[in-house]
Amino acid sequence: MAYTIAEPCIGTKDTACVDVCPVDCIHPRKDEAGFAEAVQLYIDPDTCIDCGACEPACPVQAIFPNDGVPEKWQTFIAGNATYFGK
Ligand code: SF4
Repeated sequence: MAYTIAEPCIGTKDTACVDVCPVDCIHPRKDEAGFAEAVQLYIDPDTCIDCGACEPACPVQAIFPNDGVPEKWQTFIAGNATYFGK
């Protein structure tokens, strides 16, 4: 499984989650190309180790384990993977 970043991140991109992720699977980081253009941050599902550290770090409650993503935001699961070309 993995975690997914959903709609509340759009326009927020706080990046507190990036700072706590132990495997650097949340992108784009502030220092990466594409940060300004990205509408939200995304989690690479193949790299995420399901540690859960990012979920409480998010100030807008945008992060969920994939089996806990609210129905209205289910499309974000595929959307996070698509960002990484998956
Ligand atoms: Fe990173 Fe852990 Fe969040 Fe996965 S659950 S994105 S590994 S902080």
